[in-house]
Amino acid sequence: MKILVTGGAGFIGSAVVRRAIRDGHAVVNVDALTYAACLANVAMVADHPAYAFEHADIRDAEAMARIFAAHRPDAVMHLAAESHVDRSIDGPGAFIDTNVRGTYVLLEAARAWWTSNGRPEGFRFHHVSTDEVYGSLGATGQFTEATPYAPNSPYSASKAASDHLVRAWGETYGLPYVLTNCSNNYGPYHFPEKLIPVVILKALSGEPIPVYGQGLNIRDWLYVEDHADALLTVLQRGEVGRTYNIGGENEVTNIDLVRRICALLDRMRPQARPHAEQIAFVTDRPGHDLRYAIDPTRIRTELGWRPSVTLDQGLERTVRWFLDNEPWWRALQARDGVGQRLGQAVGAAP
Ligand code: NAD
Repeated sequence: MKILVTGGAGFIGSAVVRRAIRDGHAVVNVDALTYAACLANVAMVADHPAYAFEHADIRDAEAMARIFAAHRPDAVMHLAAESHVDRSIDGPGAFIDTNVRGTYVLLEAARAWWTSNGRPEGFRFHHVSTDEVYGSLGATGQFTEATPYAPNSPYSASKAASDHLVRAWGETYGLPYVLTNCSNNYGPYHFPEKLIPVVILKALSGEPIPVYGQGLNIRDWLYVEDHADALLTVLQRGEVGRTYNIGGENEVTNIDLVRRICALLDRMRPQARPHAEQIAFVTDRPGHDLRYAIDPTRIRTELGWRPSVTLDQGLERTVRWFLDNEPWWRALQARDGVGQRLGQAVGAAP
């Protein structure tokens, strides 16, 4: 397939690009190169004959039309987004603009391309979304594909809105889409403002390791390369018009997660005192969802997919990767806002 991947210079998008090229697909990577992008993430495929890069913004309708016409993709995998919840609290506008309006512009470009080319049945618009659209769980239960949407942050609300647009373009115009909602990802090339890289890098630097609230929030962690595998599975074998939840089957509290990373670092990069002594509890994120958990029954039973690594295996690979790739994360730490506490500005004027 020739796959147009949006956001392919980001964390998950780059894993998809690397995996798709490895699997023999052709890839057109469309990315605006925001603060969250890093072309080093795809440097290993940059010279591959099946890879092309387009520096473009999904909100730019003319650019999108040109890219569809020039590359004639068989499928779109849409990952471009503003993705950091804390940044969405400080500046929701960019999230509405890219995640909602950008998705609309991309849908229209895809629809125009698909329509003018005889509405090929095999065409797919794969929208990559998050389990955060379902809101927060209590101590029990899991999100299924039938769980009502109840987003709590500007980020998750913007993703929920984009999910609804994709569904509507399928129902109204017949655009063949698949939609995936997945849990928190982690792994190599994870941008250093997200929880797991923050923990690793603060631990290595000897600084306090910030844990929001009491660290009792629960997430279902998914190794990014497993996610890329799941996405390509859904793209190729998922049923048109269907949503698939993707989870890692790895539920853990944030404090337990942080302690596991500290224990790995004690073994892999020992220092005089245990790294866990650096843990510092800080004011919680406003609207912080307590628990996310994915019921993966549909993707497991219908598509035969399940994650390949446990949380401990994935964390060990991730910590090793960060230890081995210091120049990569050092360069990104210099970017605006990275390493600072964001997302506390409730009530502040825009
Ligand atoms: P990321 O922030 O690492 O990467 C986003 C990429 O999109 C960047 O390369 C950025 O330059 C690009 N981009 C942003 N705005 C753009 C625009 N207007 N036009 C073109 N490109 C633009 O994000 P990620 O963590 O890799 O997440 C990718 C997708 O997966 C997002 O849609 C996100 O909502 C979803 N998702 C992420 C997670 C997670 O744990 N990270 C979990 C579930 C779903």
